[in-house]
Amino acid sequence: MNDILPDQTPVWQFLETTVKSVLGAYGYSEIRMPIVEQTDLFKRSIGEVTDIVEKEMYTFDDRNGESLTLRPEGTASCVRAGEEHGLLFNQAQRLWYQGPMFRYEKPQKGRYRQFHQIGVETFGMASADIDAEVIMLSARLWKQLGILDAVTLQLNSLGSNEARAEYKDALVEYLSARKEQLDEDSQRRLATNPLRILDSKDQGTQALLNDAPELADYLDQDSREHFADLCEMLDQAGIKYEINPRLVRGLDYYCKTVFEWVTDKLGAQGTVCAGGRYDGLVKQLGGRPTPAVGFAMGVERLILLLETLEVVPETVKQPFDLYLAAEQKGLQKRLMVLADQLRDQIPCMRIRVHCSGLKNISSKARQTGAAWVVLVREENDSLLANLWYNSEPSYDVQEQQLIELLQQQWQA
Ligand code: ATP
Ligand code: MG
Repeated sequence: MNDILPDQTPVWQFLETTVKSVLGAYGYSEIRMPIVEQTDLFKRSIGEVTDIVEKEMYTFDDRNGESLTLRPEGTASCVRAGEEHGLLFNQAQRLWYQGPMFRYEKPQKGRYRQFHQIGVETFGMASADIDAEVIMLSARLWKQLGILDAVTLQLNSLGSNEARAEYKDALVEYLSARKEQLDEDSQRRLATNPLRILDSKDQGTQALLNDAPELADYLDQDSREHFADLCEMLDQAGIKYEINPRLVRGLDYYCKTVFEWVTDKLGAQGTVCAGGRYDGLVKQLGGRPTPAVGFAMGVERLILLLETLEVVPETVKQPFDLYLAAEQKGLQKRLMVLADQLRDQIPCMRIRVHCSGLKNISSKARQTGAAWVVLVREENDSLLANLWYNSEPSYDVQEQQLIELLQQQWQA
């Protein structure tokens, strides 16, 4: 679980602001859910035999003996909240959320125990256009962030629940006959969650899968058409994708479309965003049948990618624009007021006032990294301002304009 320090928060804010503007452009509404839910919610939605529920949840009993869990993901909470407040039935909803998630994992680069997701969930829309929309939205986001060239879209269809069940049987039959050739994890999954074997990292298992039954051959007609519609829309939107027949996703609740945005720039933890369609989940959690599509992005991995690619604009990292300091004793009180008057005059300018003594003031001011430094002194009742740039300011105020403003305010 990480602290996010002041030199990192600007990058987080850059990401969050960009995400919000893209989500706004598609008309999505924010929802905020609690961090703790009843344990049962995750067991019923994510599935008893998934990695998350089997070994990754932070679960505890409260003082009343009720089992609670720090949320490991947002979809279950979002469905719970939507159902509880009547947002789902017979409506079309486009929602998003952000915040910390908790999983007891082996910490490594891009994998933490408290991490952050920004998630999107849509409800009430059954046809492939909404699948296309959430993918287009994510592609636009990568473009805005400057990382589109570093990610690729992997796409697959899992078919209906019935088609998947039929495929599962065929896969289990094929693999059971060759059980001793499977890696240990996959042997265990054969009994619990056989589809997960498809994304095993073990080479022997992958080789064995080359001759295994293919999910694509078991797809029902409806899912085939749905997938074809989606691909057609992505083609028309100019969004490139790879069809990955072994992409199954870890959670139980997906059907039809699944997708992942992956990068090869971060090593093993290469999935920065993952999602798909989950038409069965609302009913599974006690609501009326409601089609749904969503995805979640891993904020830490996106931040790592932004930093690796060095695409965050320099100005984003500056905490303020102007560093204002008095060179002489006795001016500080007036300087504080002056700074506040400047904030009235130029609200977009971020001003930090020097408040820590006169020693080495000029070199301290330089080290702040501010775009502008202004050192003021008084001679014959008027203000002398010594101004210099460290870097280009991020907005449009001219040097002369700034000095005039300072002098006017000083006189006043
Ligand atoms: P992985 O296969 O990497 O474990 P997952 O399938 O468990 O991922 P999801 O539950 O789909 O992941 O979560 C969506 C996204 O959240 C992931 O693609 C990833 O970017 C991010 N994510 C998941 N777990 C972690 C973690 N422990 N630390 C940081 N980011 C994570
Ligand atoms: Mg995981």
